[in-house]
Parts: sequence; C-alpha cells; structure tokens
Amino acid sequence: MQNKSPLFSVHKFGGASVVDADAVRNVAKILITHVDSPAVVVVSAMGKTTNALEKVFSILNSKGIIEAQTELSIIISSHIQIAKELEIDLEIEETLRDVFNSALDEALEHEDVDARYDALVAAGEFASTRILEGYLRKLSFYVEWWDVRDVISTDERHRCARVDEGSIFEKGEALRKSLSGATIASSDSSPSQRIIVTQGFIGRSSNGRTTTLGREGSDYSAALLARAIESKEVVIWKDVPGMLNADPKVFSNTVTVTELDYEEALELSYYGASVIHPRTIKPLQNEGIPLYLRSFIDLGSPITRVGFYPGQKPSVPMYISRHNVVRLSLGPSDRSFVGEDHLSTVFGALNSSGIHIRMMQNSAIQFDLVFDEDSEKLKRFVGALEKGFWTKTTKALDLLTVRHGSEDLITELTAGRQVLMEQKCPTTVRRLLAKVS
Ligand code: ASP
Ligand code: MG
Repeated sequence: MQNKSPLFSVHKFGGASVVDADAVRNVAKILITHVDSPAVVVVSAMGKTTNALEKVFSILNSKGIIEAQTELSIIISSHIQIAKELEIDLEIEETLRDVFNSALDEALEHEDVDARYDALVAAGEFASTRILEGYLRKLSFYVEWWDVRDVISTDERHRCARVDEGSIFEKGEALRKSLSGATIASSDSSPSQRIIVTQGFIGRSSNGRTTTLGREGSDYSAALLARAIESKEVVIWKDVPGMLNADPKVFSNTVTVTELDYEEALELSYYGASVIHPRTIKPLQNEGIPLYLRSFIDLGSPITRVGFYPGQKPSVPMYISRHNVVRLSLGPSDRSFVGEDHLSTVFGALNSSGIHIRMMQNSAIQFDLVFDEDSEKLKRFVGALEKGFWTKTTKALDLLTVRHGSEDLITELTAGRQVLMEQKCPTTVRRLLAKVS
C-alpha cells in the first residue's frame, strides 16, 4: 500500500502573479498566511516573459544569433532588475544570466525548430523559479529549488509534448521524501513550512531534451505534481476570484461559481474557458484531489472548489467567448465526398500539429474545424494536407458557448452578428460568429 501523506499541497502562481517585485512579495505573503504544511509551489514565467521569449525565438530563426542575443538581453535585464528590487543576494544576477544564455546555447544545438523553441522558452520558468526561491530564502523560508523535468517525463513532441502520467507517482518519490524532511526554522519568527519551488509547463523526453506541454500548460503541471506527491489539494492563484460564469472583460455582472463538478470544469475548459488548462482536471479527478481557484489580489473574494459534485449544475448560465478563432474548411482535392479514409488523414495531421479542436462539423463534401489562431500550428497542419486536400481558412472569428442557458439568451447575445456555424445539445449552444461587414 502506498504511504499517504495527506498534508502536502500544491500551489500554482501564474505569470500575472509574479509580474514584478511587488507581485513576488505578494506571493511570499500568501505562502506565509495561507500555507501551513509542506508545499510544492509551481510558478510560471514572469508576466509576459513567454511571449517575449517567443519573439527571441522568431528573431533567432529569421535574423540570427546576434539579433536574438540583443532581444534576449532585454529580458535578462528586466529579471535582474526585479531581483535587485527584491534585494536577493548578488549571486542571483549571475544565475539569471546563465539561465537565459545557456538556454540560447542549448537551443542552438538543435536542428529541429520545435526542439529549439522548447530549449529557449523554458528559460522563463527557470528564471522565475530562481527569483522566487532567492526571495523566499532571503525571508528565511525553508526552501528548495526543484528541476521539474526530473518528475515530468514526456514524449518527444516538442511544443505540445504528452506526459507519461503513469510514471508520475514513481518519479515523485524524491520530491515526497524532501517534503517529508524535518524543517528547522532559523528563528522563531521565520516561516517554518517546507516549500519546494518548481516550474510548470516543461518536461523532459526520454532522449534527455527539454520539452514544453503547450502554452498555459502550468496548471496541468500543478495537477501532475499533486499526483506525484499525493497532495491534499491544488490551489491555482489567479487574478480573478475563481471560476466566473463569464469573462469579466466581455460581460458585466459576472459571478463566481463556488462549486463545480470535475466534469463540468472539464467541459468548460474544453470549450475555451481560459481559467484552467483543459488537461488539468483529469489527473485530479482520478485521485479525487480538490482544485481551488482563487484570487491572489483579493484574498477575501469568493473561491471556486472543483471536486465531485455529480450532476450538480452551476446555478447560473455559463458563457465562454473565445476570440480570434480560425475556421479551416477542407475537402478532398478531387471534390469527392469526405470519407473515413480522408478523416483518418485529417486527424493524424491534427494530432501531429498540436492543434486543439474547439468545434467541428461535416457535410458530404466539406469538413470544418474551429481552433485558436496559431500561425505555426496552422502552417504545419495545412502543410500536412497539401497533397490530396483543398483548404480554406477564415480568420478573426469569435466562438461563443452558452451552457445551461436558454436559446433566447444566445439569440440576444449574438444579435447583429453573422452566424457561420451553430451546434446545440440539451446543455450547450455554440455559435461561430463573424462581424457583419
Ligand atoms: N509560461 C507559460 C505560458 O505563458 C506556461 C504557463 O504560464 O502556464 O504559456
Ligand atoms: Mg500563464
């Protein structure tokens, strides 16, 4: 029988929660006030660092190493600046330079552009975790920095690697041991809980290369780590008060849904609710580990608990609006009807291009797919279908999903827009919308 360690917890802080020195101070404050047992703390790249590293990556490919280094130096400086403001010991400066420069060196070793991307972009999570570790140590936390790649084993599909979930518990042994170790507070006033700071979003393939799990993948990492340490809970700290019934940037009068069944949360994230990464739910549901979504800004605001609430529907309609989605229509080049053999080619190409489908529909001669705009993935996908298929792309569309709402509601919400596709089932209505030109 496995040895249960019911006291451990996992806390995940996204990029917005570590955007600057004050934000890092706030994370430390939360760890002091809200974590009273050994915890794994997963922290994303700071602010928009992942986007900035993606820019370095594209400059590296289009212009070359010198230009890429110049762009990278801006990212290095902003990290060093934050570390200075936090008054972390001086070694951090060298550590941060080394994190970014060695990521660039490692990237250059790869011929394969996707492997290159992963090696470079992972630096964002290494840097943020080094800064948080340094700051917590300065505050006399009992803190340890962990390379999450030792726990998260993946396949070799760079940029959208699949995790070997079956190996997680076994790989987590060292982590569990470390969390169980005794803590020695350096003084009566220093925080005594043991904290392991580690990365989300990244893993390691069997050939030893760094991989990434797809953008916003660190929620999923937090769930996997919860499995690895048999955590009693996962807390994802957000800039919104839990799971709202709609995006507050788009809708007014939003409310927090305080209890959500795992399956409902899975459906919502699949349809595009950006509050949690779709893969996050399953590892938690399998182990019955509750997931809390709560605000790092207003600690007194409502919290969402995702757990087993079978059959329980949210008491309010849930709206998910996904902007900037693409519709790709396709069919056999000879204009014959879309047969199962064609579909098998299409799904194979989807799988290898890493596209996450949000909606699909077929007729005799046409197959329509809807997914988030991502020019790299789209290029890969269309390239794979070049032989044998015609394709047509329509961009800048919106996908609206309403769950547990009335038909009148969606009609009202989409008034004045052109409806390109629609799907209905008893719980859900979905419309793909274009602006009326
Ligand atoms: N830093 C990565 C991203 O921005 C992963 C994450 O934050 O979840 O996509
Ligand atoms: Mg993020």
